[in-house]
Amino acid sequence: MRAAIVEEIGKVSVKDIPKPSPGYEEALVKISTAGICHSDLHMALGDWQKAPTPFPLGHEGIGIVEELGPGAEGFIQKGDRVIFGLGGTAGAYWCGSCEYCLAGKPMLCPKQQYLFGIFGEYISVWAKALVKIPDEIDDKEAPLACAGLTAYSAVKKLFQLGISPGKPVAVIGAAGGLGHYAVQIAKLFGYKVIGIDIGPKKLEFVKQLGADYAVDASEALKFVKTEFRGVYASLVFSSKMAGFELGFKLLKMGGVLIPVGLPSFNEGQMPVSLHALIIKGLQIVSSLVGNVEEMRELVQLAADKKVKTHIGRVANLSELNQVFEELKEGKFVGRAIIDDFLK
Ligand SMILES: [Zn+2]
Ligand SMILES: [Zn+2]
Repeated sequence: MRAAIVEEIGKVSVKDIPKPSPGYEEALVKISTAGICHSDLHMALGDWQKAPTPFPLGHEGIGIVEELGPGAEGFIQKGDRVIFGLGGTAGAYWCGSCEYCLAGKPMLCPKQQYLFGIFGEYISVWAKALVKIPDEIDDKEAPLACAGLTAYSAVKKLFQLGISPGKPVAVIGAAGGLGHYAVQIAKLFGYKVIGIDIGPKKLEFVKQLGADYAVDASEALKFVKTEFRGVYASLVFSSKMAGFELGFKLLKMGGVLIPVGLPSFNEGQMPVSLHALIIKGLQIVSSLVGNVEEMRELVQLAADKKVKTHIGRVANLSELNQVFEELKEGKFVGRAIIDDFLK
C-alpha cells in the first residue's frame, strides 16, 4: 500500500509499504481522508525533538473499519465509519487505570502511545481510540480529529476555569486549522470572541466564522485595551512566539493565557514576568489535544452542523510536499486534506 514516510529529517517520500494486519484489540481502517496538520510539518522538519527515522506521518483521519483483530469486536464493528487519531498523542493507546487516565487526561498517561501513519491507504488502530461517526459527518471533516478536538478541549477549559459566557476572549491564529474551529466553538458556548490574525483575507474569513470582532494582530493590543480593558482569556494557536506574547499582553487582571499551538524550538522561549503574573493574578493553563469522550461530544456538534470544517485545500498523497510548502507560506485558510491515496 502507498504511504508517506519521513525517510530522513526534511525528506518526505511516498513509498510502497506492507499493508498492516490488526493485532489484539485493533481494527484495520481503510482511510478515506486525512487532514494535514502543522504538527506533521514540524515532525518532518525536526522542529521539535528529532524522531528516529524512518517514521510515517499523519494523525487525523476518517475511514471505514475493514477488519477486526481479536478482542476489538466489543468496541467497534466491521463497516463502521470512524474518526481517529485524537491529535496523535494517546491516539494509539492509553492504560485506562493511572491517575491521568482516570482524571480524563490520557494524553499524560506514562504508557500513552502516539498515532502516526494516517497518510496512507490503511492503518491498524487500537479500537478504543476510534469514534464512530454518523452519515451527517462528511469524509471531508477529517480535521475534526486533531484540529477540531484540540480547539474544542482548549475552549472547554474556559468553562473549567469559571469564565462565564458573554465575557470577551481572544482567539489568536483565528483563521488557521485550529483557530477556525475555536472561533465557532467559543461562539457556540456564548463567549464574546475577538478573532485575531494577519491580513484582510484572513480577517474576512474570521468574520464569516461568526467572530464578534476580527482584528489584525498589529492593532489587537490597542483595540482590546480600549474596548474591553483586556480579555478574560487568550487562546493561542499561533506557530510564532509573537502570538503567545500578544496573548499574554491582552489579558486583563486575573486573565488566563491558554497556549495550544506548539512553535518550533528555534522560535525560542517566551519571557514571562513573574511580577506581572503574581501582581495581576494571571494564570497560564496549557491545553494538549483532547480525549475520546471530547471527540464524541465534538462529533455530535458537527453532526448537528453547529461546528463546520473549512477546507482550504484538497490534495492527493503525491502532493504532500507541495502542501507543506503552501502551509509554511500561509497560502490557504482553514485546513488542507488528502482525499486520494492512490494518486
Ligand atoms: Zn495535529
Ligand atoms: Zn494511563
